Amino acid sequence: MRLYLHIPFCVRKCPYCDFHSVVADEETKSLYINALMNEIDLLKRVFKSMGEEILSLYFGGGTPSIYPPAELGRIIRFCKRELTVAREAEITVEINPGSWKKKELIEAARMGFNRLSIGAQSFDPETLRILGRNHTHLDVLRLAKSAMDLDRFDVNLDLIYGVPQQTLATWRQTLEMAVGVKPHHLSIYALNIPEGSEMDRKAEEGAWRMPAEDEIADMYDLACRLLGKAGYHHYEISNFALPGKECAHNIAYWERSAYIGIGSGSHSFLPSRLRWSNLKNISTYINTVNGDMLPVEHLEFLTREEAWEEEVMLSLRMSRGLDLCALEEFKNMRVLSDTIDGWQREGLVWRKGGRLGLSERGMLVSNQIIASLLGG
Ligand code: SF4
Repeated sequence: MRLYLHIPFCVRKCPYCDFHSVVADEETKSLYINALMNEIDLLKRVFKSMGEEILSLYFGGGTPSIYPPAELGRIIRFCKRELTVAREAEITVEINPGSWKKKELIEAARMGFNRLSIGAQSFDPETLRILGRNHTHLDVLRLAKSAMDLDRFDVNLDLIYGVPQQTLATWRQTLEMAVGVKPHHLSIYALNIPEGSEMDRKAEEGAWRMPAEDEIADMYDLACRLLGKAGYHHYEISNFALPGKECAHNIAYWERSAYIGIGSGSHSFLPSRLRWSNLKNISTYINTVNGDMLPVEHLEFLTREEAWEEEVMLSLRMSRGLDLCALEEFKNMRVLSDTIDGWQREGLVWRKGGRLGLSERGMLVSNQIIASLLGG
């Protein structure tokens, strides 16, 4: 069982962000922390009835590091007291450069965090400026170095590519600087500009040079090569880790294991077919849990076919690929075989030991391959 805790607050809203996050006052932030503990309390019986240990806790956002570590530490303590948290549980917090400094990192380790996910995004000043981030490349470097020097955490750096004005050369520089810090883990994401966002408007006005699709593919390809050479294992479409440093919490999502999301707008899943999500409106969320009611907004019981589609999509994201027996459950393999053979000849997929997986080239067109498998 995994526990995700959503912190929906940020210092300010980035112009490309479509995550569930808002700018809030101190009173709301303080009420929210108590509401999180109330929600855990309400769900205690579910945890107990499942009889499973909590194997990982993940504080995501938003910007969890908008709180001092001791505030988040209260929640860890509460979980350890009220639930069964495994001794070796992976406990991650997402932090933004410019928020926590060395002193807070030491405090975070004392609170029980053992993994940091740093929202670096880039080491290039111009890219950070276009992304509208309120940190500089020096903040990124300082935080990443402090985190590594302390030697108390597994450290992940999040990086973004496909940003307006970004070139293959500036992306290479960012990757090289990131590798130079020697983090345990790197996540790379292609920028997605939500329609109607501030960034979308600027792009429409032609204010920037937008990287072409081919260039974005080259950026992904460059990252795969460069990180592979530096010893990082490409274990999921967007994720690279040194041996044994994969993110156990996120792997549980891709493997469709049980997880419960606490906090406004968070999502939960109990295998193999139950999903629900929480109320997004923050004050409604707080009032609901404080009134001893579960803050569930949407609950669905997946059909067998929907569960199978999820299995196909999520397994193919991972380097270990998909069990071909799972495909056979809903598909006529005689029909699909020719298509898969074609992909194999093009070097987009591999087939080994009864499994089907995407090559690095295949990962670039994963959406098309998955759509074709599900539809074919
Ligand atoms: S820091 Fe992250 S979650 Fe917050 S506004 Fe920026 S992109 Fe969104």
